[in-house]
Amino acid sequence: MDYMTLAKAYESIGATSKRLEMTDLLVELLLKTPKNEVEMVVYLTQGKVAPDFKGIELGLAEKLALKAIYEGTRVDEAKINEWWIKDGDLGSVAFQAVSEKKQTSLFTESLNVTTVFDSLLNIAKASGSGSQELKMKLFAKLLHDSSPVEAKYIARTMAGKLRLGIADMTIVDALAVTYAGKEDRDAVERAYNTCSDLGRVAGLLATKGLGGLSEVKLEVGVPLRAMLCERLTSIGEIIGKLGGECAFEYKYDGLRIQAHIRDGHIDLFTRQLEKVTDQFPDIVNMLAGAFKGKEGVVEGECVPVDVNTGEMLPFQTVSRRRGRKFELTSAVNEFPVMLYLFDCLFLDDRDLTHTPYPNRRAELAACISETERVKVSESMTTGDAADAEGFFDQAIERGAEGIIAKSVADDSFYRAGSRGWQWIKFKRDYRSEMSDTVDLVAVGGFAGRGRRAGAYGALLMATYNREEDRFETVTKLGSGFDDDMLAALPGLLDDHRLDKADRRVCSEMKPDHWFAPSLVLEVRGAEITLSPIHTCGFGVVREGAGLAIRFPRYTGRIREDKAPEDATSTDEVLAMYNLQLKKLS
Ligand code: ATP
Repeated sequence: MDYMTLAKAYESIGATSKRLEMTDLLVELLLKTPKNEVEMVVYLTQGKVAPDFKGIELGLAEKLALKAIYEGTRVDEAKINEWWIKDGDLGSVAFQAVSEKKQTSLFTESLNVTTVFDSLLNIAKASGSGSQELKMKLFAKLLHDSSPVEAKYIARTMAGKLRLGIADMTIVDALAVTYAGKEDRDAVERAYNTCSDLGRVAGLLATKGLGGLSEVKLEVGVPLRAMLCERLTSIGEIIGKLGGECAFEYKYDGLRIQAHIRDGHIDLFTRQLEKVTDQFPDIVNMLAGAFKGKEGVVEGECVPVDVNTGEMLPFQTVSRRRGRKFELTSAVNEFPVMLYLFDCLFLDDRDLTHTPYPNRRAELAACISETERVKVSESMTTGDAADAEGFFDQAIERGAEGIIAKSVADDSFYRAGSRGWQWIKFKRDYRSEMSDTVDLVAVGGFAGRGRRAGAYGALLMATYNREEDRFETVTKLGSGFDDDMLAALPGLLDDHRLDKADRRVCSEMKPDHWFAPSLVLEVRGAEITLSPIHTCGFGVVREGAGLAIRFPRYTGRIREDKAPEDATSTDEVLAMYNLQLKKLS
């Protein structure tokens, strides 16, 4: 298929912000796509050339990217630089340059999806000496053969910033409609949650139909999407919801790790499925010593610890370590960690995701020989609220952030990728004024004044509305930033600046700068109020009003482990608001 067909589809998708329209446009595109190119089209539409866990990432230093645009078009370099300074968007620079391109040879090849995909893949994979030059040349060749619209999307993909605003779950919808039926959507999502590879799922569906998905199995080395929790605010209610008896575990406050172990080789993935094996050589060693099976997939929380006292330390200590790729040895010694394992998903040829939780727990206990630094999470099973309260108090005293209740029913399977009522968290914060901290996405910035002149003075923060797939503003955050964080903000945000609001951002406020949703910060507020200006849950509680968080304060924690779509949802803020009303009445 011509790449132009894809570029045109992206133009139409870019012109809508409605999820249903996007789905229809995707279905239209998939129907035009030959079966052998479906996998590539899905990766390209995600702005990738491979699933995240493979670590094959696109990107080229700004200077080289601009040089490639020059090499590919021979448009005056000064002009290219000028456009870059004005727009800061490689796509629009490439579009303008190709529009003015001088014809350097008589024939240019017309681009098809496979050629573009293969070139981008080669660019992403190139490494070692001379690789930058090779990347630059391959990119220049693509631009040389492009029309302006094609160049725009190739350059954005190349820069790792395609940003079509299509959530993975919208692609899942479109795949189900195109190759199966709407009613088979869950099967498609399940396959995606198991292999974390939407391109592969799409390829199987296109070539083999729904039956092809039976090939998707949990494999050691391929991360599955994490199972998540719901929340409730009373232990009695939790026990009731889970059928009168459940298991409680400490909720450790650290970094979630999914470890894949095979024949002595161990790989570690975060909740975002990023491979972090190289960043945690100590966990690899610790696990190698503790795991008694042949092969397995286990999950746990990596928590910073004071080796002198054995006490758990605040989570921030682990994140400091993650920034230090180049001084790893000293970081490993300076910020020691422990691993508390809480699940076992695969053990010696057996997929345990369809095994009930109590049996998985027993398998975990049997395959781990606890050491000083690797433990199985603290747990107790009860139907008695007073016992559970006592367990909660103990968890808090020992430095955990709360407890997680887990179903012990016959159907308490591991549900990859879903947030459900099988696991319910209960945290200390629910007892304070505003229940719980929230994780909000920065969508805009206000220029600072006085001491903050030249920096960001405050950020416009949003929740994620899952149904509508959009970000809704909920507060203006200016407190809680120390000097280090203020200095770090431009580095964290400037790369995501846009000249107008992102299509998925719904805002009545007009900040000085807009950002593509990316940075997620943890925020504590005093209370939730109705607001005429914020768009979070607009019109749900009262006509003409949304919800706002009063007196917000940054807690000091950047949620690097969360994608913007994992931020606190609009529904959660609505639930917190209702809870607050209940407390007051
Ligand atoms: P929060 O924002 O409350 O920290 P979250 O949004 O990161 O939570 P949740 O689904 O609400 O994610 O809570 C589950 C997280 O709690 C898991 O992703 C895991 O990192 C952590 N966790 C800590 N201890 C446990 C445990 N014993 N069992 C399961 N998850 C645990």
